[in-house]
Amino acid sequence: MIIDSFPADSRADTPRLPDTFCEVQDVDLHMHSTASDGVLPPGELVALCHRRGLTHMALTDHDTLAGVEEAAQAAAQAGIRLIPATELSCQWRGANIHVVALLPRGGIGKLGEGLIRQAQARVIRAEVIASRLEKLGLDNALARARVQAGSERPLGRPDFAAALVEAGLVKDRASAFKKFLGSGKPGDVKAHWPFLSEVVEWIGDAGGVAVLAHPLRYGLTRRKRGLLLDAFVDVGGEAAELISGFQNADLTRDLARQLEGRGLYGSLGSDFHFPGGPLAPGAMSPPPRTDVTPVWLHPALTGFSAR
Ligand code: AMP
Ligand code: MN
Ligand code: MN
Ligand code: MN
Repeated sequence: MIIDSFPADSRADTPRLPDTFCEVQDVDLHMHSTASDGVLPPGELVALCHRRGLTHMALTDHDTLAGVEEAAQAAAQAGIRLIPATELSCQWRGANIHVVALLPRGGIGKLGEGLIRQAQARVIRAEVIASRLEKLGLDNALARARVQAGSERPLGRPDFAAALVEAGLVKDRASAFKKFLGSGKPGDVKAHWPFLSEVVEWIGDAGGVAVLAHPLRYGLTRRKRGLLLDAFVDVGGEAAELISGFQNADLTRDLARQLEGRGLYGSLGSDFHFPGGPLAPGAMSPPPRTDVTPVWLHPALTGFSAR
């Protein structure tokens, strides 16, 4: 299906998802709030999505569903369809991979234990990251990261990045990742994350759809990205993000071919974290014409396709 057969004037009466990727501007299935490393509280994020004209959204905080209840209340008020979700950290062949769990059924199953495990992993990991950064000159790294987080939520690398900037060890967060926290650097601690197969199993047990997040952002060659997609399909993954924020059109078309060949559904999202930058809810590269089926046509998500 290529043609967006959905007439614009009926949209106001019965908001629903289009049946193709073409002309999609009102769906964003990847965003963060203060429940993880985003800047807006869940309710404010939903309000912003509403102001920007989104009809469907997913809140995908890292390894937690803590923001979903507040977001769901705000979404009900604003008349936006919210898909409960989380972005799970895991490892595959030494790489830190993210899998978005879209959870339309409201079940939790093994994912409940999984999220407890993720929170524990974050605690231990933060201690390891802190001790490594202390050796590299950041005194009291854990306490500094906690101050930057500004709440009791589990710590992430962005909190350490902010602490490194605050302490004057780097000029900005991008440099903090480049020098200390990014892939292959001392603060890139992955050992505590579950394997790809485990998080996909948790998602299946919760009646959700497992979506491989931002496949173009792992620094993988095309061939290795293909192996990752194969592994993901093998363990029960059903979808991947065809669009994540702004990405190169040629790479997107190539990724679409990789998804088509494996029968994966396609998702899309901004990966929005904070206002004031280039990204905003619903802001992302336009989806290409492709035979990849939008993830909202997955049988588990049909309840979200019409009011
Ligand atoms: P964590 O979940 O603790 O592993 O932290 C990963 C998060 O750090 C990602 O979700 C991004 O929000 C952020 N991040 C990753 N790489 C960078 C980068 N190069 N510059 C700024 N933020 C980044
Ligand atoms: Mn993040
Ligand atoms: Mn991610
Ligand atoms: Mn994300």
